[in-house]
Amino acid sequence: MKKAKKLDISNNRCIICGKAKPGLAVKDDFVLNSIRWFKHNITKNEKGYHLVVCKECYLKYQKERNKYVKRQIFYLIIGILFAMMLIFVSRGSLPSIGFGILMVLILYVFSLFSYMPAVEIPKKFIKMIKERDKNGE
Ligand SMILES: [Zn+2]
Repeated sequence: MKKAKKLDISNNRCIICGKAKPGLAVKDDFVLNSIRWFKHNITKNEKGYHLVVCKECYLKYQKERNKYVKRQIFYLIIGILFAMMLIFVSRGSLPSIGFGILMVLILYVFSLFSYMPAVEIPKKFIKMIKERDKNGE
């Protein structure tokens, strides 16, 4: 019996549909690392899944990811404007600078409620998209 050499996907988890499927690997970032650290050290329920986005979920993922990125920028701008105003009004008193920084952090945490990590896009895929854009399609 010949067994086809296949990548083991039993440990894969699509972050959208939650199924064990092949897909684009999710990039590690500090949010994911923090969640992992928390699960490993505090709640002790680390699953060690290999997080991916499967092909079927990619469009949905892209939408959510764009939403998250936009929201993050929006909250950051609001936070910075608010902090600047606060510092300006208080003529740069130390507590208001501290409060301003805190506001930026709190708004940043709010943006994480719609958190969607980045995925690794294979190089040939990027090249393909670039070629397509060049041809003006
Ligand atoms: Zn999926």
